[in-house]
Amino acid sequence: MSTLKLKNINKIYPNGYHAVHDFNMEIQDGEFIVLVGPSGCGKSTTLRMIAGLEDITKGEFLINGKLANDLGPRARGISMVFQSYALYPHLTVYDNLAFGLKNQGLDAEIIEKRVTRIAKMLGLDPYLERFPRALSGGQRQRVAVGRAIIRQVEVFLMDEPLSNLDAKQRVTMRSEIIAIHRKIGATSIYVTHDQTEAMTMADRIVVMKDGYVQQIGTPKELYFTPVNKFVAGFIGEPPMNLIGARVENGKIVVDDGVSFDIGQDFERVKGYEGKSITLGFRPEAIELGQMENAVNLSCKITLTEMLGDNVNVYANLGTKDIILKVSPYDDVPVGAELKFCIPNNLVYFFDDETGNVI
Ligand code: ADP
Repeated sequence: MSTLKLKNINKIYPNGYHAVHDFNMEIQDGEFIVLVGPSGCGKSTTLRMIAGLEDITKGEFLINGKLANDLGPRARGISMVFQSYALYPHLTVYDNLAFGLKNQGLDAEIIEKRVTRIAKMLGLDPYLERFPRALSGGQRQRVAVGRAIIRQVEVFLMDEPLSNLDAKQRVTMRSEIIAIHRKIGATSIYVTHDQTEAMTMADRIVVMKDGYVQQIGTPKELYFTPVNKFVAGFIGEPPMNLIGARVENGKIVVDDGVSFDIGQDFERVKGYEGKSITLGFRPEAIELGQMENAVNLSCKITLTEMLGDNVNVYANLGTKDIILKVSPYDDVPVGAELKFCIPNNLVYFFDDETGNVI
């Protein structure tokens, strides 16, 4: 059982760089948490503070309610998988897996039992006598994961563990890691810059930017109720359309000649009369044609991308660029005018000064 609590955690590096600002979160036993955000936003720094590899400058870190700031990495009962797998090249898969256990001074018999069990769980049993150089990227990754989970710790940290794999292997390992997580049940924190990994793997996601937590929530919460423009644009692929607009005479004006009514929903932006705001809608939230209780618009198709399961349609809404996701069975010829609509409840507005959702 391991619950983690981060209270106002800050990291200021010796050179004065403030990499993490007031990180606050409670992580429940067995949760799979993903820290996501662009490169340099403070994800690894946060993970390394949790691991005990980096001092916490300010704030409290508690494991099962006990202050752990000053505990060393071993004493925290935490194990970590790094981006570079850090396998021992001169040791076989078996010995790579057994290494940490031998260091702990465990009996050879116990070691063999555990290595065999973990190798089986990860599908590594045929490769136990091989050296890392004779393994594929995905197999090496599995050894790295195996080495971390063989220690039977209660907290498991992963820093971009899939970044050295090709796209197909990443998809496979994603579900393998989640399957392992379900089996061992350890509280897990996973760092990635890839929103798809975050969305597909996490119980809860922490979105970070410039050292600040932007939002913490389930994948669904972040997708449907982003708190600000950054989260709205970061989660979802292709990203949410975010378009400059103005509130004028009770209408939303996107461009000269492009404006719309949002009926009762105007309440939301009433206070912004005469001001500019950002209009947001997801490419996949639209429907073709026009309907009631929806924002009805028309755009001009400039480019299409046939992806098989859907088609990305790039288009101009007035002078603004937008992207729509439609079905491969829809007729969307380049150059044509396309009528589409966005259900009112899937239209977002953001304050241009704060970036916050309105
Ligand atoms: P992420 O994992 O989100 O890519 P990091 O946590 O690695 O980001 O880094 C956050 C910020 O802290 C970056 O701007 C990085 O340059 C800076 N940083 C990382 N390590 C150090 C260090 N040892 N000294 C000074 N600045 C650092």
